[in-house]
Amino acid sequence: MSSPVRVRFAPSPTGYLHVGGARTALYNYLFAKNKGGEFIIRIEDTDLARSTDESLQMVLEDLSWLKLNWSEGPDEKKTTNDMGPLGPYRQSQRLDIYKKVADELIQKEKAYYCFMTDEEITLQRDKLKAQGKIPHVESPYEKMPPSEALAKVNAGEKAVVRFKTRQLKKDYIFTDLIRGEVKFPSDMVGDFVLLRTGGMPVYNFCCAVDDHLMKMTHVLRAEEHLPNTLRQLMIYEAMGWQAPQFGHLSLILDEDRQKLSKRKGATSCHEFKLEGYLPAALLNFVALLGWSAADGKEIMTIEEMTERFDLSRAHQAGAVFDAVKLKWMNAQHLRALPHGDLWRELQPFFKSEELEFHDVSDKWIDKSAAALKTSFETLLEGAAVYKTLSDKHFLIAPEADEILAWPSTKAVVEKWKNLVTEHSGEEMSETDFAGMQKAIQESCKVKGKELFQALRVAIIGKPHGTELKILVPLMTKKSLIYRAEKVLAK
Ligand code: GLU
Repeated sequence: MSSPVRVRFAPSPTGYLHVGGARTALYNYLFAKNKGGEFIIRIEDTDLARSTDESLQMVLEDLSWLKLNWSEGPDEKKTTNDMGPLGPYRQSQRLDIYKKVADELIQKEKAYYCFMTDEEITLQRDKLKAQGKIPHVESPYEKMPPSEALAKVNAGEKAVVRFKTRQLKKDYIFTDLIRGEVKFPSDMVGDFVLLRTGGMPVYNFCCAVDDHLMKMTHVLRAEEHLPNTLRQLMIYEAMGWQAPQFGHLSLILDEDRQKLSKRKGATSCHEFKLEGYLPAALLNFVALLGWSAADGKEIMTIEEMTERFDLSRAHQAGAVFDAVKLKWMNAQHLRALPHGDLWRELQPFFKSEELEFHDVSDKWIDKSAAALKTSFETLLEGAAVYKTLSDKHFLIAPEADEILAWPSTKAVVEKWKNLVTEHSGEEMSETDFAGMQKAIQESCKVKGKELFQALRVAIIGKPHGTELKILVPLMTKKSLIYRAEKVLAK
């Protein structure tokens, strides 16, 4: 029986979660859930100069916002307690583990202490280059007996620990789950560093050690890590460990087919959150950057994606990030939400716009969502649409001046105000509104833009916006009178 699937997302906490990272996390999550396995988070923070606690919190918050819940890893809120039996799940807290493995590799003569200085290395490299050779480090310490080297270290000499590659002389071949057979000749790398002076381990070393100790069965990560696989395979082999199966996800490109970068617009999950994208929509979108469902379904919930996820349908070619498609997809997800949920999702955006809808009924929420949800594609745009219904934010825009100067406008607005005042109910239907428009047309002898633009200004303070026949039935008589009076007073 094969062991249960265990996969991890291993972010380096050096900023917000990028959409590329979100996709890697999602593919791991979908793969695990599809196979009834475990999804684990490991924090790769041994680059002390770039990793911050603040970023760690941001990354965990973004993952939680996306609901990519992990069963083992750092606790979402506290920075001290990890969840799971194979922790700690932060590499900066596992230094003694890496030291032990490095010692074992030295004992097995698979690795060695190297005392070369940076100057010596540079000199050697230049010399090798001049001779037309590959400029890999050829350390004189490779053959030094471990006990002798250890004595030097104990005497305070500075050393790095290097992995021995020169005796390997072979091709490393593995079947990548996405790219098929991959072959790396061993001399693609020289004796690489495992531990820096001072004992800080490097990425390739920690990664292989942790993937083994944390019992990963599969490693799904970004394409840029493909060449790292060679060093990691060498470490597995030297330790006599079985390597996990690797899968390297295609690049995400911008519209100019360049690697997606911040310079051309939002790329972090946090920015999309602030712009009013739903996590479900963002996940749906990133899932399709390099994968498609066998049945061609595009708009999917996380459950539907989990059910369909199959790495054999992951693409090798780079995927283009299309911001227009993301927005469209967000609109599809927004419109599919039950109206109560849509209302809840809008709340933080109302709050940042200082919009308050305290005394509205569930019936009104339902009615307004049904009427307005096709007029916006993000929650931020949604808040702007709802803002037109708030008297507190009613303003007469400068574009209205021209319309206010027309000789017919005053009469139109006055007639409108009177009709609203005389209207028997608190609210108005679309038909009531159509009737009133007709009555104004007849009594003021206006039509076309003299009628419609003047009414728009009387109701929303500007000549453009959501259709009045949609808005008016959502407004109270009191509000409509208040607005008309303000316009008349101008
Ligand atoms: N810490 C690496 C990164 O953020 C992950 C490498 C891996 O998944 O092996 O790119």
